[in-house]
Amino acid sequence: MNDLSDLYQEIIMDHRRNPRNEGLPKDHTHTADGFNPFCGDKVSVAVKIEDGSIADVGFKGEGCAISMASASLMTETVSGKSVDDATASFEAFRTLLTDGVGDNSEDLDIGDAGALAGVRAYPTRIKCAILSWHTFKSALDNEAAPVTTE
Ligand code: ZN
Repeated sequence: MNDLSDLYQEIIMDHRRNPRNEGLPKDHTHTADGFNPFCGDKVSVAVKIEDGSIADVGFKGEGCAISMASASLMTETVSGKSVDDATASFEAFRTLLTDGVGDNSEDLDIGDAGALAGVRAYPTRIKCAILSWHTFKSALDNEAAPVTTE
């Protein structure tokens, strides 16, 4: 169990240090901003949807390690997927963090983002971890209003 936690820790720190898809694609078709008032995390997500798929996705933001690592993991998870599959990944990630599904995160189509399952034990950190995912979902829905985890 400890080895597993260490591995998860490593994935999270790697994404914190070397964020994937940082920066907003210039030719994006959908965008949204998110804010987590409990921690001060801010994130913008921009998506380019082409033929019903996530052709490009990027984020920009500032916040705690969990929020930024999660944003990086989110972009990696949804990139290249169909909008439907990406939405399913969002739902799976939210379920993982809120309801908990044991440690069968490999059953969920969320890849390395399963490493964030550990934040479930810390309710305030769940908001940090889920912010970018909610913002991504909001971008897909092309909602103009800023997202808040409140
Ligand atoms: Zn945070």
